[in-house]
Amino acid sequence: MGGDIVRQLAEAIERMPLVDHHAHSLLPDPTDPDLIDALTQAEHAASAPAVFDSGQGFALRRHCAPLLGLPPFAGADEYLATRRQLGADEVARRLLRASGIAAYLIDDGHRPDLLMSDERMARLAAAPIHRVARLETIAEAVLAQSTSGGEFVERLGPALDAAAVEAVAVKTVAAHRCGLELDPARPTDVDLRSAADAWFAVWRAHAASDRPRLVDPTIVRHLIWWALEHGAVLQVHAGFGDADLVLERANPARMQALLAATAGTGGRIAFLHCYPYVREAGWLAHVFPHVFLDVGLAVGFLGANADAAVRESLDLAPFSRVLFSTDAWGVPERVLLGARLWRDAAARVLGGYVAEHGWPVEEAIRVAEGIAWRNAEGLYGRAFVTD
Ligand SMILES: [Zn+2]
Repeated sequence: MGGDIVRQLAEAIERMPLVDHHAHSLLPDPTDPDLIDALTQAEHAASAPAVFDSGQGFALRRHCAPLLGLPPFAGADEYLATRRQLGADEVARRLLRASGIAAYLIDDGHRPDLLMSDERMARLAAAPIHRVARLETIAEAVLAQSTSGGEFVERLGPALDAAAVEAVAVKTVAAHRCGLELDPARPTDVDLRSAADAWFAVWRAHAASDRPRLVDPTIVRHLIWWALEHGAVLQVHAGFGDADLVLERANPARMQALLAATAGTGGRIAFLHCYPYVREAGWLAHVFPHVFLDVGLAVGFLGANADAAVRESLDLAPFSRVLFSTDAWGVPERVLLGARLWRDAAARVLGGYVAEHGWPVEEAIRVAEGIAWRNAEGLYGRAFVTD
């Protein structure tokens, strides 16, 4: 009896469409080293043996290999050879479609020059693409076109307005640039102008030919306030990523003062990834009504222990504020794993709550459906699935 109900829950989760509320596009034709690079956050010493011999690697061998016609747990050499034989488009088509993702919100802020167009990805996935605009990238493009800090400030507002029209959300990588422990106050015009002058001067003095890189916390804070005061959904990278960030400064709890100061703006904040600070993000969602979280990225990398992240994401946060994402970048394996491991983990975690804590199965299905897609439709105000 109990087993039947848990099976019913798992089957319902298996059939659910997913809205991937934060991902990136794919490399059009990845080589073996490209694939290995896209499967790790390590800059150095990324190697097929290290990647395939890890939690994520085991999950890839178990779940992706059969979709390429290989036995589960095929080795790295066999997997890579079959991938080359099938070609990038066929591999992407199989893995993206097997994920059951019905819509993607794509952030084009990380090396977009390397990645395929929205049209091509949408065709391979047989699913629509919506855009997420990265705030730092917009500010950097504006600075590169400005002849002074003053001109940058003048042009920034219209550029942000234009980007917001085309995007369903905006994103900040403050964690990578200055850390999340930001002064909570909205920067004054004087603060912004002097920060802009300083950034412009540094860029001009050192590398005017390169793309400017925004690391100034005052300007980052201005972008965050701009987004929230415009009622936008602001996606915030939190927790692990590559070694370009200082992990402890990416703890979402560091943003507590800024969250308190912005609770009444009408804007919403979605903390992405959060690992290993899932509990902290859950607490923030518990105490601040405009805070959401996901454990995307973490789920794909954790492999067999994805259950832990999914379970912790449900500890303190209201269930209506937990979201699904893959944070896939570059290769469709990461899309498939994000979806596959989330479905399996959600079925096990919620199945346990049904079997051992007496949750009605239909309530567990409702909670899973919220995370899978309904909460994203509510947050972004779009009918991604129900259209
Ligand atoms: Zn991302």
